[in-house]
Amino acid sequence: KLYNEVQELKGNIRVYCRIRPFLPGQIGNATTVDYIGENGEIVITNPLKQGKDGHRMFKFNKVFSPTISQEDVYLDTQPLIRSVLDGFNVCIFAYGQTGSGKTYTMSGPSVSSSKEDWGVNYRALNDLFHLKRKRRSTFLYEVGVQMIEIYNEQVRDLLSNESTPKRLGIWSFSQPNGLTVPDASMHPVKSTSDVFDLMKIGETNRAIGTTALNERSSRSHSILTVHVRGMDLETGSTLRGCLHLVDLAGSERIYRSEAIGDRLKEAQHINKSLSALGDVIYALAQKSAHVPYRNSKLTQVLQSSLGGNAKTFMFVQVNPDIESYSETISTLKFAERVS
Ligand code: ADP
Ligand code: MG
Repeated sequence: KLYNEVQELKGNIRVYCRIRPFLPGQIGNATTVDYIGENGEIVITNPLKQGKDGHRMFKFNKVFSPTISQEDVYLDTQPLIRSVLDGFNVCIFAYGQTGSGKTYTMSGPSVSSSKEDWGVNYRALNDLFHLKRKRRSTFLYEVGVQMIEIYNEQVRDLLSNESTPKRLGIWSFSQPNGLTVPDASMHPVKSTSDVFDLMKIGETNRAIGTTALNERSSRSHSILTVHVRGMDLETGSTLRGCLHLVDLAGSERIYRSEAIGDRLKEAQHINKSLSALGDVIYALAQKSAHVPYRNSKLTQVLQSSLGGNAKTFMFVQVNPDIESYSETISTLKFAERVS
């Protein structure tokens, strides 16, 4: 039965587009979003072109309007959490330019502890422990968490207690589900609040080691990995599932003429890893024989949760302001290619 369910979802990559609302100071600004359809259509208007040529339609699994609640954004994600406990690998991303709401979707607003504002990460982990408790008592689960950052193609452990962070490698195991794991510290967790405490530490560590705080976080990928190991005490059989929750670096294109030195280097690393991610998902969607996982650290780390029986969700974030028009088009083109 489980198998059938998985077959149905096999190779399933779903893409959800979320339009960020205008922020308090921007209310009344002109928007590029012309139309949102019931079946995942979105029409973007070019502010500089009139008539038919000035519109472009994209289609995704769903498009979320600016007024949607965090709870409704999470709804379709919920069944994925159950499948992690059944031994499947799941990857959930937020993609988009800086300021488009990636962190808001994945974690929530930075200053709020209200449950209503919880993003996908918090809801997913809360559900994971809730579902785990409801399982048969003869089934024993162990849950471990890792949190890393990828910056300039270097992997950093966000939960390490060593003062000088070391560069990490990535291990590949030839387990049934081919788990790839960064060589980062693994933290056993027993409850939702254990994970939340670790996530706070990780978020704090992410901001350290840089002077321009926000800048850095928008130019690195952060990955929260939840490893689940289940054992049936009656039969002795075991299963493993893993959940990757990824807040990607900002996708904005930075041109050679605008950036020099470190900025340019960062931009090149981001471009490289986001296009590697796009290429991997595209190859999977095309059922291509060769999937180019090895082209970036990001795709290496996520390899076990992309392809095969894994399920992948991407939240594509859009800033509706007309100033973001060209970034919006490039974001939606990226998403269209992989969906
Ligand atoms: P990113 O991580 O893509 O750079 P953020 O998540 O930090 O973007 O969002 C930028 C700003 O917009 C933040 O102040 C955030 O709180 C706000 N924001 C984003 N999405 C929403 C939303 N759906 N509702 C209200 N505020 C939002
Ligand atoms: Mg962010």
